[in-house]
Amino acid sequence: MSVQTFAELGLSDDVLESLQKMGFEAPTAIQAQTIPLLLNGHDVLGQAQTGTGKTAAFAIPAIEKTDASLNEVQVLIQCPTRELAIQVTGEIQKLSSYTGGLRVVPVYGGQHISHQIKAINRGAQIVVGTPGRTIDHLKRGTLKLNHLSMVIFDEADEMLNMGFREDMEEILTYKDQARRVQMLMFSATVPKPIREIMKRFMVDPVSITIERSPV
Ligand code: ADP
Ligand code: MG
Repeated sequence: MSVQTFAELGLSDDVLESLQKMGFEAPTAIQAQTIPLLLNGHDVLGQAQTGTGKTAAFAIPAIEKTDASLNEVQVLIQCPTRELAIQVTGEIQKLSSYTGGLRVVPVYGGQHISHQIKAINRGAQIVVGTPGRTIDHLKRGTLKLNHLSMVIFDEADEMLNMGFREDMEEILTYKDQARRVQMLMFSATVPKPIREIMKRFMVDPVSITIERSPV
């Protein structure tokens, strides 16, 4: 059975309204497969080409899973570059424009850290970062993961290529180990280090591969 509409994915009216405003008429293949799994609490490894709509595939469940009344970081997203972190932040802001003031904060190198600390302290709920700056905030204690419910690595293979493997693993050690934190990785390829991270940190991950169908 294939999903035809976003409404069939069981999304909130707020998010459906944002999607309509953005002109997203129907879910792409990766969105149709990933969103229900994430809403149901699964860990997911997603493989799909560029331009298949992966950002909304993780941003929509991230928004739906965030408790707007809780001023704590609940979702952490990692991207290989600052440009991507800024782009992902923008897409989450658009998708949550009717959700009533979700606080999404990007953290990346090259921007003054005091600005980011203030933004986090204002009650960040979703943080989108690059690994180096994220670890900096974790070490300073300005970013705390004790209320985290979801961690997402976008372009995970690209992060490996840029030498972020140890950072990726270090970030995961900061979460409360007794707490179930759902994990999603998107990666165009699945080299051995990705399989090792999956084995160490994911619980019964579901793998999804989309061969084609860019937007
Ligand atoms: P990827 O991360 O897989 O490379 P993006 O998430 O950046 O892809 O999406 C590629 C483009 O497609 C973006 O411009 C995005 O706004 C658009 N897009 C994503 N999902 C949909 C959809 N369901 N309907 C229409 N356009 C979409
Ligand atoms: Mg992408």
